[in-house]
Amino acid sequence: MKANWRVITTYLIVFLLGAAIIAPLFNTESKVTELPFSSFLDSSDQGKISQVTISGDVITGELKDKTSFRTHALNYPNLVPMLREKGVSIKVESPVESSWAWNLAIQLLFPIVFFFFLWWLIMRQAQGANSQAMSFGRANAKQQTGKVTVTFADVAGVDEAKEELKEIVDFLKNPAKYQALGAKIPKGLLLMGPPGTGKTLLARAIAGEAGVPFFSISGSDFVEMFVGVGASRVRSVFEQAKKQTPSIIFMDEIDAVGRHRGAGLGGGHDEREQTLNQLLVEMDGFDPKANTIVIAATNRPDILDPALLRPGRFDRRIVLDKPDLKGREDILKIHAKGKPFAKDVELSVVARRTPGFSGADLENVLNEAAILAARTDKKEVGIEEVEEAVDRVIAGPEKKSKVISDNEKSRVAYHEVGHAVLSQILKNTDKVHKISILPRGMALGYTLQLPMEDKYLVTRSQATEEITVLLGGRVAEEMIFNEPSSGAHNDLERSTDLAKRMVTEFGMSKLGPRTFGRKDRQIFLGRDIAEMKDYSEQTADEIDHEIERIISECHDRARALLSKNRGKVEEMAKLLIEKETLENSILEEALKGLQGD
Ligand code: ADP
Ligand code: MG
Ligand code: ZN
Repeated sequence: MKANWRVITTYLIVFLLGAAIIAPLFNTESKVTELPFSSFLDSSDQGKISQVTISGDVITGELKDKTSFRTHALNYPNLVPMLREKGVSIKVESPVESSWAWNLAIQLLFPIVFFFFLWWLIMRQAQGANSQAMSFGRANAKQQTGKVTVTFADVAGVDEAKEELKEIVDFLKNPAKYQALGAKIPKGLLLMGPPGTGKTLLARAIAGEAGVPFFSISGSDFVEMFVGVGASRVRSVFEQAKKQTPSIIFMDEIDAVGRHRGAGLGGGHDEREQTLNQLLVEMDGFDPKANTIVIAATNRPDILDPALLRPGRFDRRIVLDKPDLKGREDILKIHAKGKPFAKDVELSVVARRTPGFSGADLENVLNEAAILAARTDKKEVGIEEVEEAVDRVIAGPEKKSKVISDNEKSRVAYHEVGHAVLSQILKNTDKVHKISILPRGMALGYTLQLPMEDKYLVTRSQATEEITVLLGGRVAEEMIFNEPSSGAHNDLERSTDLAKRMVTEFGMSKLGPRTFGRKDRQIFLGRDIAEMKDYSEQTADEIDHEIERIISECHDRARALLSKNRGKVEEMAKLLIEKETLENSILEEALKGLQGD
């Protein structure tokens, strides 16, 4: 719009200038001298006047020396005889006639011309904008291409993800090798993780490693004013990428378009939905031999439309977490390059000071430190600047990450160890893969359990043991700190839910093998919206009792097991506080020597 206004004002100025130049040409009276009536009478007496035109009370005329004049007269009865006497030629015009012509010009013609002109300008602008809308999808995608120079060496602290991505890079480098063996490589790859963990960076690094063209579009680009632009952009990006295979299409912040679509409610055919549909169509439509891989990034995988996650679309998912101690140190090393640090700055110490920081936060810390040093005219960045920068990033307005206090950290550590120890002791639960006290999403810490095999059935002992593990976090907190905290609320929700299903759906309680309550599945919504009660109030009571019994039995068992292994729990919590994340061999070692019930 800015440009439009500039154009309009330019035209307006040109127009006004033109009018100012042209106006005098129409106005023949411009070189006329205005005479006072008395001077007019004097001139008349002296016989200087050659001719006059009388129009109402306006008298215009010419002197004998050819100068034109103009004057206003009263209704002066002697005027005509006086002029006659001096032999002046007299012309009389109807005053109405002349003012009619003039009025028409001023009051009608001028505005008409003016409005016509304005209308023409506006039309021109609108058309201009439209044709821009038609073409900029294409133009935009082109601009984003270019040789990528980022490599895996620029990304640290995400070793697992890099390991997984090596395969993709290798495929992009020599697709023929894979095709000869009939191998299909995933079309879509979804990078998930909190903001600032290097999703965008990693996607670029894949292109850099593989040395293939990189077509990038961001979800926020799609949210445009003109309907249809998003879809046409998607189309044109795919078109271009397919022309230059092997290639990568990168869709950053895909959640902006890939949100769960309204399931028929409200019937919104909005821009976002059109764009998403176009994306799905393109992904389904491409030839598996096309050698183009679509990489998407999001920090809100939870709100993505399930259609995006279906097989054949973004079915390969890679999680990027906040870096742990070692990861932070490596990231700091990358961003410390090119900055002269004083001898007292040890990056491992900085890493220890910054739990919960993302890669972007760490980069920011070093940058702030350099700025602080420059401001005081230092030649090197010292430890004071780094410390100050850490505080700034923690407190600063741009702080996006949760940073936890030591006190909370130790609480979270005991909580997670509680989960981990119990799932190690109880044989019917999933194996612990990793425990961490780095905040992730809403959770302050987490214990990652991976199933050894796919499960389709749940036995009663599996269900109760899972509840026991879920309660383990809270029980450990109670045992060490003598009171629970709010941190366990998600665990409680899940354990309550499972206990309820044991009673009402799985028939695993005293109430016998039957179900209670019928789920009303709304096929259009694809979710449960209501539950129909098909039992009496008395049964409802019994159900509640059974749920309570199951939970309290599990709670007691968790308490007994953790008390028995208290020494081990404390030892492990200390290790976790120090390392922040325990996995692989260190975790295995730590979980050895636990006593069962
Ligand atoms: P995201 O896309 O996940 O929000 P970005 O990739 O945009 O995060 O990261 C922003 C910046 O932070 C990067 O350009 C990089 O300089 C730095 N950064 C983030 N994560 C890492 C990492 N793992 N290793 C090195 N630098 C990182
Ligand atoms: Mg990003
Ligand atoms: Zn928990």
